[in-house]
Amino acid sequence: MSRNRFIPNRPIKVFESCFSAGRRLSHGLMELIYPPACAACGSAIADSDDFLCLDCWQNLRENLPGNYCRVCGHDIGDFSLIDGRCHNCQNRRPAISHITRVGPYGKVLRQLILSFKFGRQSQLDQFLGSLLTDAFLGDEHLADVDLLVPIPLHWRRRWSRTYNQAELLAKVVARQLKKQGRSIPINCDLLRIRHTEPQTSLARSHRLLNLRGAFAARVDADYSGKHICLIDDVTTTGTTLRVAGRALRKTGVARVSAAVLAVAAND
Ligand SMILES: [Zn+2]
Ligand SMILES: [Zn+2]
Repeated sequence: MSRNRFIPNRPIKVFESCFSAGRRLSHGLMELIYPPACAACGSAIADSDDFLCLDCWQNLRENLPGNYCRVCGHDIGDFSLIDGRCHNCQNRRPAISHITRVGPYGKVLRQLILSFKFGRQSQLDQFLGSLLTDAFLGDEHLADVDLLVPIPLHWRRRWSRTYNQAELLAKVVARQLKKQGRSIPINCDLLRIRHTEPQTSLARSHRLLNLRGAFAARVDADYSGKHICLIDDVTTTGTTLRVAGRALRKTGVARVSAAVLAVAAND
């Protein structure tokens, strides 16, 4: 009885071991043709599974996540934080009530995000998405999030870039949260209804004007009473998150938070 039960598995096990041996061989050949390089600085590394060189790993570790204001996301010293807020955010009632970040927009994280945004590599989706998942799971304010809403791109920009980096991040985060037993759906009913200039090309004073009326929720969006977590790659002045948050607040949401990879210093 027991013998018969194992017979059908045997060809599968032989196939699996041949397959994994083949995969190891092709992996070795690929590494001979394309020697593994650090995803951030490009210097040679011994094994592609390491992903980053030792220096870049160290830089990344030293800069994550740092002390930061939980409203605007900017770096702040220990003694300047009051209830998690910096001095500027003390008396504000922001559209985004809470922000969580992987780190400041410094050296290694910045380089990885630029490669992810402008030269998509699938392993970067996974790596950066994993960092964002860790930040999400480590933040108790995000324990009751109902929906993940990636910051949308206007269809023209999405068409030219071919993907929305915030949506890719949200997919990895949702997948990894599910493995941890938390099932949070991704919702894309927040739309970018107006094509705008890239925020990075504009002075701080023009950023709000540029985005005014740029976001709106679909008429049938079901956001009422929900805790929404916006997902984005980088924020600087927070204008994009703020304008998107205001559009969501018109739909009767309970709370809007945000999870981003990095917060860049104000210029
Ligand atoms: Zn490196
Ligand atoms: Zn602040």
